[in-house]
Amino acid sequence: MPASALFHVTSHGDAYPAAARPADWRTYAACAGLPDETVFAHRPGPALPALRACAVCPVRRRCLETVAPAESWFDGVSGGRLWRNGKEVRLPAGLAPDLTVDHSDHS
Ligand code: SF4
Repeated sequence: MPASALFHVTSHGDAYPAAARPADWRTYAACAGLPDETVFAHRPGPALPALRACAVCPVRRRCLETVAPAESWFDGVSGGRLWRNGKEVRLPAGLAPDLTVDHSDHS
């Protein structure tokens, strides 16, 4: 294996041994493993499992910043909210996740 394959050079020029690379934030997504039908749902009912995951997601803020729903005209769940064409969908009472607790460790 070439030595260059063992290192990752960051934008700051730092080199990490491959085993010490910082994990991608998506590694920590609480919705990882959920089906696309819920993560990219258009309606509140099918989106519920993803919305519940958002409530305990440690990368909620990073998700919202990266997806930038309004700018990307996003359809689906991001940052604990459901979006359609980049606009937040109003959720029926009882379906909105409790986003008052910040679980971020990896944002
Ligand atoms: S905030 Fe929600 S949609 Fe975004 S990564 Fe976390 S669980 Fe998934």
